[in-house]
Amino acid sequence: MGTCPLARMPLLRDNFTGLLHLWARPEVLTCTSWGAPIIWDGTFDPDVAQQEAIQQNLTIGLTVFAVGRYLEKYLARFLETAEQYFMVGQRVVYYVFTERPAAVPRLPLGPGRQLRVERVLRERRWQDVSMERMGTLHAALGGRLGREAHFVFCLDVDQYFSGAFGPETLADSVAQLHAWHYHWPRRLLPYESDPRSAAALAPGEGDFYYHAALFGGSVAALRRLTAHCMRGQRQDRALGLEARWHDESHLNKFFWLHKPAKVLSPEFCWCPELGQRAEIRRPRLLWAPKEYTLVRD
Ligand code: UDP
Ligand code: MN
Repeated sequence: MGTCPLARMPLLRDNFTGLLHLWARPEVLTCTSWGAPIIWDGTFDPDVAQQEAIQQNLTIGLTVFAVGRYLEKYLARFLETAEQYFMVGQRVVYYVFTERPAAVPRLPLGPGRQLRVERVLRERRWQDVSMERMGTLHAALGGRLGREAHFVFCLDVDQYFSGAFGPETLADSVAQLHAWHYHWPRRLLPYESDPRSAAALAPGEGDFYYHAALFGGSVAALRRLTAHCMRGQRQDRALGLEARWHDESHLNKFFWLHKPAKVLSPEFCWCPELGQRAEIRRPRLLWAPKEYTLVRD
């Protein structure tokens, strides 16, 4: 890592984006204290990223869970927009986890893109559906998904792509800044604070608040992440505890202990209800309206 004398910003060379233009966005934080890039629109060259990824002949996995009414409500739009915007030009394999494989929409897929459907049991509580994902992903990463993909992104289904989401986002481990919290002071971030919980962070701990609706990385890194969260959730359950934000609390604990290699700006997973903001130039993925009364029991 060198230093750019003009902007006093570190020069970061990234596997996928070549030299990152971190000084192109002086109004936002573009580098973490441990030297990981925070990717904002304008800090990377999507063509370089594309070229690097093609040279490496990658297969990229995209996992999504659609259980209960989330399937009818969100899955078709999620997949249609992923076809338009997610890793276009790369080899992609979607993994859809559902209790009703027959109800998964059969979209025409672009060249080099495949969809696999995996059956899961339907948990009764939505919190359990959300948390059980960690164990299911861990098993999938240890099986076929792990053998066929080099990098995997794990996403919530209640969102849709709205802009190019390409290989500039790839790294060994990737965390997403939460749209609601990226500009909050650390002491207000909604980490789990009960010291009995495996997800607990002590006062003063925590770097950023990451959103569990999107995380990714290499298969090996994601195996470690999912194992950690699965174990923490199991420990909490044995004590009759449930972390404040479920799997997200455990994910935040994991990324505190094992810093992500790349951080995505809130442009990569934006909440349109927050309105227009000068620093949010081109959202790549948008939260669908939260209609909990329709999808949750
Ligand atoms: N999910 C699901 N069915 C459920 C509950 C959750 O398929 O009954 C999956 C779905 O992919 C969803 C994710 O788990 O996007 C996380 O749940 P949710 O989006 O409701 O949590 P939030 O984003 O509101 O924290
Ligand atoms: Mn969600």
